[in-house]
Amino acid sequence: MPELTRARRALTMTPEQSAIDDAAIISDNGVIISVGRYRDLAPQFSGSVTDLGDVSIAPGLINAHSHLELCHLRGSTIAGQGFMVWVEDLLRQPIFDLPEEALAKASRELKRTGTVMVADIATRFPERMAGFFEKSGFFFIVFTEAIGETVPEDGFVPAGEYALGCGSVAGHSLYTTHVDVLRAAKAESATLGRPFSLHLAEHDDEVAIMAGEPSGFLDLLQGRGRLLDFVPPRKAPTQQAADLGLLDERTLCVHCVKVSDADIETIRQSGASICLCPRSNEFIGVGRAPWEAIRDAGINCCLGTDSLASNHDLNLWNEAVYFRERYQGVLSLHDMLAMMTVNPAHAMGVEETLGTLEPGRAAVWSIVPDDFLQLFE
Ligand SMILES: [Zn+2]
Repeated sequence: MPELTRARRALTMTPEQSAIDDAAIISDNGVIISVGRYRDLAPQFSGSVTDLGDVSIAPGLINAHSHLELCHLRGSTIAGQGFMVWVEDLLRQPIFDLPEEALAKASRELKRTGTVMVADIATRFPERMAGFFEKSGFFFIVFTEAIGETVPEDGFVPAGEYALGCGSVAGHSLYTTHVDVLRAAKAESATLGRPFSLHLAEHDDEVAIMAGEPSGFLDLLQGRGRLLDFVPPRKAPTQQAADLGLLDERTLCVHCVKVSDADIETIRQSGASICLCPRSNEFIGVGRAPWEAIRDAGINCCLGTDSLASNHDLNLWNEAVYFRERYQGVLSLHDMLAMMTVNPAHAMGVEETLGTLEPGRAAVWSIVPDDFLQLFE
């Protein structure tokens, strides 16, 4: 049975009709049939009508980087003292004990704040996480995280068919994942025809390890028996990723805090997307990415909350407010919304389903908070 939903305003994110006042969306079986003015669509409509009232709606949000496996660690990790302190502390946490009630709470928070899709990294439980997203009604990609020295014989991604999402592979990082494993991970995602994700240029130790400079973090890893035969490439992380063949249109580079203008140009030329996680970077204390230069280069730019081990919440609107308040340059409402809708839809290859409010897309949307809208008045 068709449904009509009315709102004061719809920010559709389509080029033709980016904002509609007194808007109506007609949907059937979870798919949008038409979008327009209420007064134009209502007279010919018969079916159930929901009036959302005096609110603006936007496409459902896409969180381009999270680790819901860590959602039970909210408020329990050390903040602001750099990556090494943070990761040492994280490894002392009960990372294998993920309670169902923490996942249920995360699900409620994501739904309450308009997130409809999650690009999630799974280091320990990829099948459980895919099952969780499917059961909870989220669109998703669960990236099985490739880390260490071994390429699994049967591939990284567990078998499994889902209605709302799929699995793919992510590389953990250039310094924790062997080059052969990174190449195999990228190759598997390409064979599957799905996106690849990689934490890239997140912190100074990563830069030092790649450059072959002394790093307390490398000492820590080698003390744990990792990277014993590591040969530094003596390159910037981004150049190393490019030379390994990891950067192309299907790659999402996460963080990119430590990137030079030359690195930004390398990423732009590759066609890769970038996911910025500004509050996570501040929480851990790794610095701030050159947001303005990345956006000015024309790179497809997304936002992610990262995990609750390095952020206060999973609310993408809060991520956007944080970003907008500190952004030094012109950033329109459309540009900001794009980083949570059309841009990640493109990066994740789901632009036929999500990212805009138009016929043929999934009938899902978010309600735009007033404090967010006020930033653009
Ligand atoms: Zn991450």
